[in-house]
Amino acid sequence: MIACLGRIVQDTDADSIPDDDVSTLSESLDLQGTIESGGITGVAGKDFGGLYSVKPLALIKPSGTEDIARVVNAASRTSHLTVAARGNGHSINGQAMADGGFVIDMRSTEENHFKPLTIDGSHYIDVSGGALWEDVLKRCVSMFRLAPRSWTDYLSLTVGGTLSNAGVSGQAFRFGPQTSNVTELEVVTGKGEITVCSETQNSELFFGALGGLGQLGIITRARVKLQRAPDMVRWIRVVYTEFEEFTRDAEFLVTQEEGESFDYVEGFVFSNSDDPINGWPSVPLDPDHEFNPAYIPQTAGSVLYCLEVALHYRNSERPSTVDTAVSRLLERLGSIQRLKFQLNVSYVEFLLRVKQGEEHAKANGNWDSPHPWLNIFISKSSIVDFDRTVFRKMLKDGIGGPMLIYPLLRSKWDSRTSVVLPEGEIFYIVALLRFVPKGPTVEKLVAQNHEIIQWCNKEGLDFKLYLPHYQSKEDWKRHFGNQWTRFVERKTSFDPMAILAPGQKIFKRTHIIKP
Ligand code: FAD
Repeated sequence: MIACLGRIVQDTDADSIPDDDVSTLSESLDLQGTIESGGITGVAGKDFGGLYSVKPLALIKPSGTEDIARVVNAASRTSHLTVAARGNGHSINGQAMADGGFVIDMRSTEENHFKPLTIDGSHYIDVSGGALWEDVLKRCVSMFRLAPRSWTDYLSLTVGGTLSNAGVSGQAFRFGPQTSNVTELEVVTGKGEITVCSETQNSELFFGALGGLGQLGIITRARVKLQRAPDMVRWIRVVYTEFEEFTRDAEFLVTQEEGESFDYVEGFVFSNSDDPINGWPSVPLDPDHEFNPAYIPQTAGSVLYCLEVALHYRNSERPSTVDTAVSRLLERLGSIQRLKFQLNVSYVEFLLRVKQGEEHAKANGNWDSPHPWLNIFISKSSIVDFDRTVFRKMLKDGIGGPMLIYPLLRSKWDSRTSVVLPEGEIFYIVALLRFVPKGPTVEKLVAQNHEIIQWCNKEGLDFKLYLPHYQSKEDWKRHFGNQWTRFVERKTSFDPMAILAPGQKIFKRTHIIKP
C-alpha cells in the first residue's frame, strides 16, 4: 500500500493530483479519519496572517495518534513529501503550511485524551494537542473548578500550537510560559514513532518539542498543570506618561512574591490622541468608563503607556477585602492618579476577553484581513532604546491594532526547551498586532517590520523574535545562536529527513528513503 502512495506522489505534483487520487491516497494510508484534496479545502493553504498561501497535497483529519503516525510514516517512504500539523492556523507567516505536502488538521483530534489526574496531591489534565485552550478552560472550570496556570491572551489556539512556540500572557511572570507548565507529552516524531516523553523519560524529545516550532514531532497529548480556579477577577488599567515609570512599576510587580502582587501583569503603548483604535478610547475597560484627556499632564509626549493588571478573588471574599488588597498595590504605583479603570469580571470571562474583540473584528471584516504582526522578546537593557526610537518615533501614530509590552522573567523559563530568549533576567515581550485592510498597506507594514528588526540589529539590541520567521538557514542559525547545535542534533535524532513543519523553512526535506 505504501508503495502505491509513493508512486502517486512521486509521479505527480500537487497541482495535478485529480480528486480520485485522493481516494486512492486514502486507501493507501488506511486511516480511521478522513482525507481531503488540498485544492478543494482552501483552509489548509491559508493562515491568520493572510500573507502567504500554498497548495497542500491533502488535508488529513486524523481520528487519533495512530493516524498521524501513519501519515508521517507514509511521507517518510517518499523522497519529498512533508507533513505539517495545523493547530488552528493562527500563525502569521505560513508556519503551519506544507506546500505540496500533507497538512494534518489537529482540531479533528480535539476531543481525544481529556482526562484529569492527581499525582502526589497535584492536579493535572491530559488533553489533546489539537484541543483549543478555550475548551480546556471551560471544561476544567465547569467540571472540576480547576484551571491551567499559564495562558495566552487569546484562547482559540491549540495546545500543540502554543506549546510548539511558548505560550505567553500576563501570568507568565509567575508561572513561566505554557511550556513551563506541562509535565508529559505524547509525540509522533518525524520517524513516525509514537513516544511518551517527560523530564525523566525521553527528555531530549520532551524539552526539544517544547518551543520546537513543530520540528521534532507532532504533539498529540499534553499533561498540563492545574490550579484551583478563582471565581472572579478585578481587572485594572492605569496610565503613565513616562516609559521609565511604567517599566519601573511593571518590573516591581513581576518581581514580587505571590500574594504580594497582582496575578496578571501586562501593558500596552497607545497614542496620545483620540484615535479610536490606538488612542485614548482603547484604554477604558467598559463603555461606562470615560477617558478624560484633561487628566494627562501637559508634559506628555506623543505616546502613553497603560499597565494592565488583575487580581484573582473568590466569591466568598468580602468586596472591602478585595478593595483593600487592590488599593494597597495601586498605592505603590506612580501612574496618573485620575486615569484608573477597574472592572469585576468572572475568571472565565477575563480569560476569554479577546473573544469579544474577535467577534467585533469579524463583524467589521478586520478579522479576515491580513495581519502583518511582529512579536519580539527584548531584554531590559535594550527596551528604553526600543521605546525611544520605535514606539515614540516610528509607530507614534499607532499601528491599527494593539501594541503590547510587558516584562517576563527568564528564570521562569526552562533553558532545556527549544525556546530562544535574549540575555538577562528581565526581558519584555513586544507584540505589534496590526489589523489592516488588504492592499498596498500590507507590503508597507511588512517592510516596516523588517525596518524595525534591521534597526534592532544595527543598534546591537539584545532581542529575539518570538514566533520567529526567517527565510534562510543563516538567519535561523543566528536566531538560535549557541542553541543551534543542540537544535540540529535534536532534529537529526527525531526528524532526520526533515519531514515535519516545512512551513517554518528551517530545514530542507532530505532524500533518504526508508527501506
Ligand atoms: P498553528 O498556527 O496551526 O501552528 C503553529 C506551528 O506549530 C506550526 O509550525 C505547526 O506546524 C505547529 N504545530 C501545530 N500544532 C502542533 C502540534 N500539535 N504539535 C507540533 N507542532 C504543531 N501567542 C502567545 O504566546 N500569546 C498570546 O497571547 C497570543 N495571542 C494570539 C492571538 C491571536 C489572535 C493570534 C492569531 C495568535 C496569538 N498568539 C499568541 C500566537 C500563537 O500562540 C501562535 O501563532 C500559535 O502557533 C498559534 O496556535 P495554532 O494552534 O493556531 O497553531
